[in-house]
Amino acid sequence: MKPKNFQAVYPFKGYVIESVNCQSIGIQINLRWDQRRTLRCPDCGKKMAKNRETDLIAFDLPCGGGPVVLVRYPAIQGCCSSCKRYKTVRPEEIHPTRKATWRLMRYVSLLARYVPLDAMVSFLEVPASTAWRYDKDVLEADLPEPDLDGIEAILVDEKSVRRGHKYVTLVLNAKTGELLHMIESKKKGSLEAFFVKLTDEQKASIKAVCIDRNGAYAAAVEEGLPHAEIVYDKFHLMNSLGKAIDEVRKEEYRDATGEMKNVIKGQRFNLLRHPENLRPSGQLALRGLLEINEKINIAYLLKDQFRLVWNYRKRGWARRYLLQWISWVRESGVEPLIRFAKGVERDIERIVSWCDHRITNGRIESFNSTVSRIIFKARGIRSLDYLYLKLRQESILRT
Ligand SMILES: [Zn+2]
Repeated sequence: MKPKNFQAVYPFKGYVIESVNCQSIGIQINLRWDQRRTLRCPDCGKKMAKNRETDLIAFDLPCGGGPVVLVRYPAIQGCCSSCKRYKTVRPEEIHPTRKATWRLMRYVSLLARYVPLDAMVSFLEVPASTAWRYDKDVLEADLPEPDLDGIEAILVDEKSVRRGHKYVTLVLNAKTGELLHMIESKKKGSLEAFFVKLTDEQKASIKAVCIDRNGAYAAAVEEGLPHAEIVYDKFHLMNSLGKAIDEVRKEEYRDATGEMKNVIKGQRFNLLRHPENLRPSGQLALRGLLEINEKINIAYLLKDQFRLVWNYRKRGWARRYLLQWISWVRESGVEPLIRFAKGVERDIERIVSWCDHRITNGRIESFNSTVSRIIFKARGIRSLDYLYLKLRQESILRT
């Protein structure tokens, strides 16, 4: 076959195929500079005089189900009179330093969404560490910058990325789910670092911020976005309430004797899980417990009642309902719940503000599995920059 016929599958701008060597172990495509083209500075576009040529190689996508494809090409150095520097011209389809074509790197990056990096060697003969660099370079080059204009509400939460040792703060656009910001640590400053990126106009468009009541973010929001309203996240609130219920269970277990101790034992998950997510055996055990232990039964009912506040559409009604709920808790006399209710009373406006904005951190919660999947595929975090790019990619593809 004539070299010219390869041109369609191996197009390199400014270059032509001079010869092709096909062997069983692989194919080598030899390029030369297309003499009809003028040599121009890659940065300013001004004509340059050729100084010297250096032969380089790059890997390309495998061909015919296996053989390695190598592209040999001359990198041409010229001196740009405008930039006053030596500049190197190479095919733009080839990465300047990675010894690979962009299309090979993009293919690796695409596969990396589905297979672990260390499996890449069996698909493409690309070792894990190289695959990781390709993926990172491609994401850096191809992912658009976060769109910070016209955001109406944001979700902010911390995520543990190394078994409880390392935390990152994530900021998402509440409407689109786009990941806008990720920074190490869960302190106030991590959120302030996001606000610094925003113009006054961008800040003014944000009307609501969903956060966990227990974190350090509230103060940062009050200072950074004084016009925005804070919405305390439903999932975190239900979680704290779950902890209070569990305290009741522990206290009851401690004081129980004989048969009662056996009935309470091992019911933690049955009490905390949504009843619909329980297996029949769990439902049965839970029913047994609620029938014989009055205190746990009351606590459980109050938990179910608390959840109803998110059914209200009008803030005034939600507030009235919560105040009612707080009085029920007081009447119940169940100490861990009374402590929880005190917090609810203090934060009531930031809970019922949900009615006006209807945002939760559910989207960030679902990032948990994404984070673990990414870390699993990369066999570790490798770098927070990489984790950010991967999460951003997922957040954009999901929307
Ligand atoms: Zn120049």
